[in-house]
Amino acid sequence: MTGTQEAARRPALGIDIGGTKVAGGVVAPDGAVLATARRATPGASVQETEDAIAAVVEELAAGPGRDAVGVGVGAAGWFDRTGDRVLFSPHLAWRNSSLRRDLAARFGRPLWVGNDADAAAWAEYRYGAARGADLALMVTLGTGIGGGIVLGGRLQRGSHGVAGEWGHMRVVPDGRLCACGNRGCWEQYASGTALAHTAREVARSSPAAAAVLLERVDGDPDRLTGEHVARAAADGDPLARGLLAEMGEWLGQGIADLAAVLDPEVVVIGGGVSVLGETVLGPARERLERALPGRGFRPGPRVVVAELGAQAGLVGAADLVRTAVAESGVDPSA
Ligand SMILES: [Zn+2]
Repeated sequence: MTGTQEAARRPALGIDIGGTKVAGGVVAPDGAVLATARRATPGASVQETEDAIAAVVEELAAGPGRDAVGVGVGAAGWFDRTGDRVLFSPHLAWRNSSLRRDLAARFGRPLWVGNDADAAAWAEYRYGAARGADLALMVTLGTGIGGGIVLGGRLQRGSHGVAGEWGHMRVVPDGRLCACGNRGCWEQYASGTALAHTAREVARSSPAAAAVLLERVDGDPDRLTGEHVARAAADGDPLARGLLAEMGEWLGQGIADLAAVLDPEVVVIGGGVSVLGETVLGPARERLERALPGRGFRPGPRVVVAELGAQAGLVGAADLVRTAVAESGVDPSA
């Protein structure tokens, strides 16, 4: 067996670095997660975050991951094309850090480092809702909006590594201030954070209409989160349902804009907010139908919920390092 074939048959380690936790898993070539490990993310310190990643890798490598072909790391940040440098991460401590070099020195294994939504997009293309699509887009809805592009069987990272950051398309001139430094970004209107923001605004301006929501936070609008809105909506509160529908409309409008630029076959909606399912996706599809440029004269994209859930990032990162090793033709055990 050549090194290439051998690499394609071995498990890989996938690590997903979020704002609150480092989650890792041993991922088989068929996408199955054989074991998991996690640590809290001390987001304020680069050193401590790297220590947490190393601890997860060591734990997995001591068990079912001992034969892993490499380590794939996805994080909520912007990376240069090679994954060598973290350019910017609104929610983590890295600024122009040499993450890849630091981690490669620690692990002594092949490494893939990149954006978490890119990794999730790859996972959905390989094993999930975008299987077989020629052009698939990922939209992850969480604290912000992340994105990834798979075209012709390749993850597309752009000329500088930061393609697919559509959470920062400006949808409202001089709108809400965003962590990226601009105003009116899409993620300020269609993410979990946006949902909380809108709920607080409504609760402050119309406390009577928001009574059901305010009950859940002892009358303090500042404590409202997206989660509160989701639960109130599930209990049938019309205001909460309206807020989710409004978020869905923003989502659909953004997807229409993406369709105008890229004409995707499928748009996969992932991230924590995607568990809301049709409450958000129904209004999103309706808005997309109304807002799609050339509507009635052209097909639009399918809009579907991600299939891999919270593990998409680590599954995709693991498969990306396995694919990179297999394609390089280097015997990973040599
Ligand atoms: Zn922004």
